[in-house]
Amino acid sequence: MDADVIVIGAGAAGLAAARSVARRSLNVIVLEAQDRIGGRVFSHDIPGSAVPAELGAEFIHGPARETMALLRSAGIQAVEVGGDTWALDESGILRLEDSDFMAAARSVFTGDHASLQDESVATFLARLEGNHTNQDLVHKARAFVEGFEAADPEIADVGSIADELRSGVDAGGARPSGGYRPMFDFLAAQCQDEGVQIRLSSTVRRIKWQPGFVTLEGNAGHNAVMWSARAAIVTLPVGVLRGTADEPEVAVEPSLPAVKQEALRYLEMGHVIKVVLQFRTPFWEEIHGGRYRNAGFFRTRPNQPFAVYWTQLPLRVTHLVAWAGGPKAVALRNSSPSAIVEQALEGLGTLFGEPALVRAEFIEAFMHDWDADPFTRGAYSYVVVGGAGARAALASSIAGTLFFAGEATSIDGQDGTVNGALVTGERAAEEVAAALHAPATRGA
Ligand SMILES: Cc1cc2nc3c(=O)[nH]c(=O)nc-3n(C[C@H](O)[C@H](O)[C@H](O)COP(=O)(O)OP(=O)(O)OC[C@H]3O[C@@H](n4cnc5c(N)ncnc54)[C@H](O)[C@@H]3O)c2cc1C
Repeated sequence: MDADVIVIGAGAAGLAAARSVARRSLNVIVLEAQDRIGGRVFSHDIPGSAVPAELGAEFIHGPARETMALLRSAGIQAVEVGGDTWALDESGILRLEDSDFMAAARSVFTGDHASLQDESVATFLARLEGNHTNQDLVHKARAFVEGFEAADPEIADVGSIADELRSGVDAGGARPSGGYRPMFDFLAAQCQDEGVQIRLSSTVRRIKWQPGFVTLEGNAGHNAVMWSARAAIVTLPVGVLRGTADEPEVAVEPSLPAVKQEALRYLEMGHVIKVVLQFRTPFWEEIHGGRYRNAGFFRTRPNQPFAVYWTQLPLRVTHLVAWAGGPKAVALRNSSPSAIVEQALEGLGTLFGEPALVRAEFIEAFMHDWDADPFTRGAYSYVVVGGAGARAALASSIAGTLFFAGEATSIDGQDGTVNGALVTGERAAEEVAAALHAPATRGA
């Protein structure tokens, strides 16, 4: 055997799991397909900027205890998200007094009129609209599901959205100072201190298992390789576990039990197009008499391709982020990268009423195609109608041998977040340790 436990994936869940398993005196190898750690945390340095372009996760949502503990150990600050929210409507661009879309969504999905039925977000919201419930609240609730959850309201399960909103996750929160990468480098260093071997460019193509024994087949670089262990922790994103229509990305033999295959049918990957736009100067701070100097977020009109743009306030830097989630991202995804950037710039020009200035200031854009990425196949997971138990079913282990972690297996409402993924890694590590009768954890 190569190790007691092999962890597939070096994202948040995989690294948290590996560290925790290794602290129980078990040998651990992490196999990561890409030549970098982090998975859906992907910080890209911008020359001359203290803040990287975060192509994936950027915010710390809600209390996020595990993330905050990790940041503290690493000596990294969390910077509270700041600034006002401005919104463009027919009468122009106005500062929103009530800019908390998550609070609006919480009141709609968990308040007095909360849905008690197995139904989609769209069906539920249409009923509320028919009952003349406050239209503004309903629109904000829909924008939240599309933008924050990256979900399609036509199929997203209304009960699962409500559960998540009850869990205390919040939309804004904070950001790790200097981006997420230093925290991940620290976590990987902690793993290595515990003896974990992190093998990059090592792609698993087939998982063969029997109780107490796992063989993984795949490639390390261009070489075919086989690894074996007593147990494996699988942190593959839902999009990868499900595979493409033609073939699985990772074959499992014997195949996953029916309950898990069923769970995968009720979990969808949401879609996000996030473009980081780099400018010569933070010109938005100066225009229109400096009224946007303290702007954190800009919301556009519903017909715009990008729903929201944001600054890095309280840090004053020269990039803005353009975000399209759910159906808006789907509408954009067949466009070329340059056409997507064009639309992001055009939307910004319309927002400020300054198309020429936006063009003149623009330097370059950074983005990552999460849908096309064969190691992700989408942004993050959501539950479709009828899938109330899907996350728990995906999280359950098989024969004390195959264990599952990753944001999609989060059952405490933190799915789709870094913190949720860290928690699932810890949970899977505990399950493995119990199954392998590992000694108590050492260090912390
Ligand atoms: C655009 C975007 C913005 C986001 N914004 C935020 C945010 O602001 N705040 C927040 O908390 N969360 C955010 N998220 C979600 C967050 O990034 C994820 O929930 C979290 O990082 C998932 O961690 P994970 O370990 O479950 O999965 P991943 O990070 O996807 O890790 C899985 C790993 O498995 C590897 N892998 C895949 N296939 C194989 C294979 N065959 N063999 C070996 N390895 C393989 C992958 O390369 C990857 O490294 C965002 C995500 C996206 C895409």
